[in-house]
Amino acid sequence: MRVSKLFTKTSKNAPADEVAKNAQLLIRAGFINKEMAGVYTYLPLGKIVLDKIIQVIREEMDAVGGNEMSLTALQQKETWVASGRWNDEVMGVWFKTKLANGSEVGLAPTHEEPLTKIMKNFIHSYKDLPVYPYQFQIKFRNELRSKSGLMRGREFWMKDLYNFSRNREEHEIFYEQMVQAYNKVYERLGIGDITYKTFASGGSFSKYSHEFQTISDVGEDKIYVHEAKKIAINEEVYNDEVLADLGINKDDLVEKTAVEVGNIFTLGTKFSDALDLKFTDEDGKSKSVFMGSYGIGPSRIMGLLAEHFSDDKGLVWPENVAPYKIYLVRIGEGDVIACADGLYEELINKGIEVLYDDRDVHIGQKFNDSELIGIPYRVTVSDRMLAEGTFELVERKNGEKNLLTREQLLAKLV
Ligand code: ATP
Ligand code: MG
Repeated sequence: MRVSKLFTKTSKNAPADEVAKNAQLLIRAGFINKEMAGVYTYLPLGKIVLDKIIQVIREEMDAVGGNEMSLTALQQKETWVASGRWNDEVMGVWFKTKLANGSEVGLAPTHEEPLTKIMKNFIHSYKDLPVYPYQFQIKFRNELRSKSGLMRGREFWMKDLYNFSRNREEHEIFYEQMVQAYNKVYERLGIGDITYKTFASGGSFSKYSHEFQTISDVGEDKIYVHEAKKIAINEEVYNDEVLADLGINKDDLVEKTAVEVGNIFTLGTKFSDALDLKFTDEDGKSKSVFMGSYGIGPSRIMGLLAEHFSDDKGLVWPENVAPYKIYLVRIGEGDVIACADGLYEELINKGIEVLYDDRDVHIGQKFNDSELIGIPYRVTVSDRMLAEGTFELVERKNGEKNLLTREQLLAKLV
């Protein structure tokens, strides 16, 4: 992509009412646009990053046998009345509206009910189980407070996967597989070392649910971390009984603030009973399908990454989610342009993602923009370097500078 063709521009300031660092940086660098509190548009650069995060999650969900689909955002009331969750006192985050004929509909805050209903068309026998449908979808939640930028949206992206299994044993095998899949996701996104499987409150079918909590000063949750075991306990369930259950000594725990980047839950037969999703087992008996739910917030993760991987100059994207790998800068005319154009073409042809600053603006602006946008590598071509046959390579994350020949540069970046 040539910067001259990119319609977004960087800016010195974020909107005055934006208090979250992640949103301030992402707005200034042109990744997102603020529509209102908790509602953000993904601009071209932001869309690339969001898609890369989603792709990492997709690959890991497919690896455990997930079936990707896309449910509707508009929800009919009856489906949710069946589970009791249409009631605002049971689920307080609904956005509800009406069709032209007056019937009530809602914007999906989650998708257990409609998916369970759909699966009635496809699950009849034990031979149809287990199955793992999932989706990436915008969820709508009328959150009370929305001051954390992308980390708490009123409209936000979620990956939600649900398992439909024959019984608890089959469910539990998959649940463990998902713990491993989630670990891989956070590892690949560069936050594996600071993300903990965290014991949280369960429901009628399990004593605990598990959250994946990433340590961060701006987190809304308090957790107690056991570093050696690489697990944590959410303060909401932190008591002597849980410590005993986990065989953990209080003195080995450290209190931290953290961001919930994922949540996995044993649903049991709560929704299959409510919506009458049954199957005929091998013994000929009709039984309720045993379910679990597995959420990850790609947009919350994007906010968290912006918050975590940034410095006083701007964003510092990890390579596998950065919108581009290289920010190519040219300083000069004539031969410099020809050389930069040639390098750009060659890198593109080799499949490298390059943001080429081909604008006629001051060099300081090009460098500042490359730092604010947070592209991992900056390559500069100038008259002097051209005469010496070198290119300057600067690494965003540590500022390391090297003058390299074209061969050395390609060997390092391709
Ligand atoms: P929280 O406790 O933070 O309100 P939750 O427990 O309601 O979240 P789930 O319903 O389990 O969240 O949603 C699955 C995932 O979606 C969460 O782990 C989180 O990563 C993400 N998520 C939830 N709410 C939001 C939100 N308002 N904005 C952005 N991401 C969110
Ligand atoms: Mg939660």
